Amino acid sequence: MVLDNYRTLLLDNGYQPLSVLGWQRALLLDLSERVDVVEYYDDVEVHSPSRTFALPAVVRLRQYLRRVPRVLPYSRRNVLVRDEGTCQYCGRQPSWGKLTVDHVMPRSRGGGSSWENVVTACGPCNSVKGDMTPEEAGMPLLREPIRPGLFRQGRLAVRIQDIPEEWRLYLAG
Ligand SMILES: [Zn+2]
Repeated sequence: MVLDNYRTLLLDNGYQPLSVLGWQRALLLDLSERVDVVEYYDDVEVHSPSRTFALPAVVRLRQYLRRVPRVLPYSRRNVLVRDEGTCQYCGRQPSWGKLTVDHVMPRSRGGGSSWENVVTACGPCNSVKGDMTPEEAGMPLLREPIRPGLFRQGRLAVRIQDIPEEWRLYLAG
């Protein structure tokens, strides 16, 4: 795996998953003693001129943090989160970089950018649908787009197949 692709799972101090960090940030949190490293990646290390670092796979916050449910703000990325990276027309799950957001009622026809009018679509479906509604295009939606309810912090943007072995124990249940 390319070094940049390594991510670190951040746990709260009760070992509940909180979020996903780039390993660089996790390393800084470790060096500043704000987290304890729970698991390291076995297959990789980083070298600075003077030191060698193991990459943290899972870290745990030292400080107690109240878990506050929060409302997921509307954004392109969070539309992908809501739809779990799944094209709402064909059900495919390409990489996130290849996904687009589609206006169910096209923008050119007055459709707004809101939770209720925007869905995740793969590039091919988006261009086939073009300026049509799903009915006109004969492309029914897999799920009606809705405003998501409260999301627990940390339930973000990790696809099942992207979860490293080192995290699995901490994501169970
Ligand atoms: Zn599609």
